[in-house]
Amino acid sequence: MQKIYTMKVVAYSVKPFEKACLARANTKKHDITLISNSLSAETAFYAEGKEAVIVFTNDDVSEKVIDILAGFGIKYITTRSVGTDHIDKAAAAKHGIEIANVPNYSPQAIAEHTIALALALSRHLTLSDRHIREFDFRIDQLIGFNFFGKTVGLIGLGHIGQAVAKIFNGFGCKVLVYDISIPENTEGIHLISLDELYANADIISLHIPLTNDTKYMINAASIVKMKKGVMLINTSRGGLIKTTDIIDALKTGQIGYLGLDAYEFEQGLFFKDHRSDLVKDTLLKELLALPNVLITPHQAFLTGEAIQQIAEQTIRNLDAWQDERKALPAYTGS
Ligand code: NAD
Repeated sequence: MQKIYTMKVVAYSVKPFEKACLARANTKKHDITLISNSLSAETAFYAEGKEAVIVFTNDDVSEKVIDILAGFGIKYITTRSVGTDHIDKAAAAKHGIEIANVPNYSPQAIAEHTIALALALSRHLTLSDRHIREFDFRIDQLIGFNFFGKTVGLIGLGHIGQAVAKIFNGFGCKVLVYDISIPENTEGIHLISLDELYANADIISLHIPLTNDTKYMINAASIVKMKKGVMLINTSRGGLIKTTDIIDALKTGQIGYLGLDAYEFEQGLFFKDHRSDLVKDTLLKELLALPNVLITPHQAFLTGEAIQQIAEQTIRNLDAWQDERKALPAYTGS
């Protein structure tokens, strides 16, 4: 009888709500140990005796940790995210460790959250919610602005940027786009230079990966090129924005509204309960104390549909590696 090869895997940072999705996707194919701890030098030992590691965005997949994983014989790392900026790819390559991600799951999940942030900011929904719970029904501080007729600047027109463009088009906005590659579908958008986008957009939304080229793309020098009072939304990665510069710009009113689902220093902070920490992240506290700032804890991906798609693609990544291994003549199965 042909032996069925099962890949031995450990999945880090697994939330209770992901377990059923992963189980449904896996159908007992791979032997996956699910743990809630995030990956770090201290928790890497869970990978001993495994071939593959499944991680998430805020796991520590630095050179130091990859060296430890390689020592345990890890051959594959797959991340349950689009972005791979948290993984030291050079370190993985040094050990011949292969990397995979979930390149295209429900871009609408992130796009719709982007719009939720923008709408909540423009109509002061968090303030009105706070007031109404105290039976304060005054509306004097709640004057918003129409999206209809406004100019939106999207930086990045990949899967998510395209979904965002469609929604803003539906609102009757003019959609300007800057992307380093020319998108296939330019219907309803205007491709322009980055400086033109900064100069003309009333709302700017970031939909690009975090790379060496894009780190701190939004800084004092780029902010000054934007329209005074612009709304800036970032549901991509925190490192795209220099946080200290954005705080200065919010204080002067150069940035009128800021919506974030990703924060520069979110690693080790987001996805966990830090209510009882004596010392709290001072930059984040400063941001949260400013009016017209709305921050969510990297939840844009978090819809039932998206979590299931992430789980299924993660299992497909393991399947692909399993098939590769099956093809190796030395492989005997286990
Ligand atoms: P994608 O690869 O489909 O699109 C990225 C686009 O950015 C591409 O069109 C690319 O040409 C463009 N780009 C790359 N570098 C650029 C640069 N320097 N200047 C201008 N354009 C550039 O990716 P996507 O699926 O649309 O995702 C975008 C980002 O969203 C991801 O990299 C990830 O960081 C983030 N994301 C966040 C969440 C969340 O929950 N908050 C979930 C998924 C993805």
